[in-house]
Amino acid sequence: MITLALSKGRIFEETVPLLRGAGIEVLDDPERSRKLILATNRPEVRVVIVRATDVPTYVQYGGADVGVTGLDTLIEHGADWGGGAGLYQPLDLGIAKCRVSVAVRADFDYASAVRQGSRLRVATKYVNIAREFFAAKGVHVDLIKLYGSMELAPLTGLADAIVDLVSTGNTLKANQLVEVERIMDISSRLVVNQAALKLKQQAIRSVIDAFAAATKATA
Ligand code: AMP
Repeated sequence: MITLALSKGRIFEETVPLLRGAGIEVLDDPERSRKLILATNRPEVRVVIVRATDVPTYVQYGGADVGVTGLDTLIEHGADWGGGAGLYQPLDLGIAKCRVSVAVRADFDYASAVRQGSRLRVATKYVNIAREFFAAKGVHVDLIKLYGSMELAPLTGLADAIVDLVSTGNTLKANQLVEVERIMDISSRLVVNQAALKLKQQAIRSVIDAFAAATKATA
């Protein structure tokens, strides 16, 4: 049995066509069903639905053999868990593309604040990515860890800036925020448990190959 960890939302929706391309149909919709383990048309493949930030953990400790996770989540996880030990990362799936950026209120002069060496309050879910980025720039920051609705932080005076995912930029615009730095481009990656790769080599190789072929076909 091969267990594939996915999170609900964009990653699930964009992985389904790749699975379909690989001849794997998920037999339930996680948006409609409360089931956490979803069968597929292939008796040897099942999907487990976990929180996006838990996908690397499930795969690292063998709760799932393979998983699909954003590079953002993988980097944050890796920084907390010694470089994501035990996780093999064979493929960029090219899905759920976005970027990690710094954004501020439209009336906040970020460039001047940086030039003057001001200490910035930065709210983010991505504390490791943010810490590294501002350290490399030589900007002093106080990081405030949030778990969601980062856009609210500059609007309420909680922070001067946020570090968050941006895709179309519509969410920033709707909240009168502007993107002032692009930290990195993000897409989703296939991750594989290294022990499973050895123990179930053939089955996992065929899943990786099927994902690679489906990724190429939709690129
Ligand atoms: P947008 O308005 O298209 O720029 O999307 C920004 C909002 O969607 C932010 O709240 C992000 O956290 C979220 N978002 C954008 N892209 C992704 C992605 N690939 N994965 C998860 N969340 C995303």
